[in-house]
Amino acid sequence: MRKTVIAGNWKMNMTPAKTAEFIKALAPIVAGKDKCDIVLCVPAIDIPAAVEAAKGTNIKIGAENVHFKASGAYTGEISAEMLTEAGVEYVVIGHSERRQYFGETDKTVNLRTLAALNAGLKAIVCVGETLEERELGYTETLLKYQTKMALTNVTAEQMKNVIVAYEPVWAIGTGVTATAEQADEGNGYVRAAIAEAFGADVAEATTVQYGGSMNDKNAAELLAKTNVDGGLIGGASLKTDAFTAIVDAANA
Ligand code: PEP
Repeated sequence: MRKTVIAGNWKMNMTPAKTAEFIKALAPIVAGKDKCDIVLCVPAIDIPAAVEAAKGTNIKIGAENVHFKASGAYTGEISAEMLTEAGVEYVVIGHSERRQYFGETDKTVNLRTLAALNAGLKAIVCVGETLEERELGYTETLLKYQTKMALTNVTAEQMKNVIVAYEPVWAIGTGVTATAEQADEGNGYVRAAIAEAFGADVAEATTVQYGGSMNDKNAAELLAKTNVDGGLIGGASLKTDAFTAIVDAANA
């Protein structure tokens, strides 16, 4: 059975004080809702506050990026060891905003994924096509390529700590959600790529999330699809009510 994972991606939102307030308010509401794992991926500066506030709850804390080197002259970057020591369990890698604004490539996504996995972190690896790529008919090719590139040199054993998030770029932060059918199809392409690289058993066991304007209104329909094993949620993860409703949909 694949684990359903509902993960918030806060992006560059929330201060440490707001982080503590948010998690303290959310924790009692989602307590016991254990049909899914609940993760909040927060800005680096918010990690200590998030880890402290989440202690003793069923909320797990993630980071939004990790560097691929263990240490060195990489100003502004954060290593996997720094994250694990701070109590982080998950990390988002290759988000389209990092690919679009910060020069992230399939190669660096792969290196970051390997660094995260080797340090014992769970990697939430993002893949997704732009609208232009979709309209040109490249969605399947691109999703399979990005998935395989991101997972190069990952072992079948390490795949237990990999989540892939299918996030169509045109649906992120736009309010335009993929239809449940499009989400299921995209996630299916990702799963097929995992099967080609690691075999059917690994593919069947890997959590593949959908992300892109998932909210309290559309979550149930998206999560009902066979290939949708959870969500990576931006905007709606910043609102206790909306995020709780998505967790509820995953627990229905
Ligand atoms: C995201 O940041 O990964 C995301 C899917 O954002 P949103 O839910 O706001 O579209």
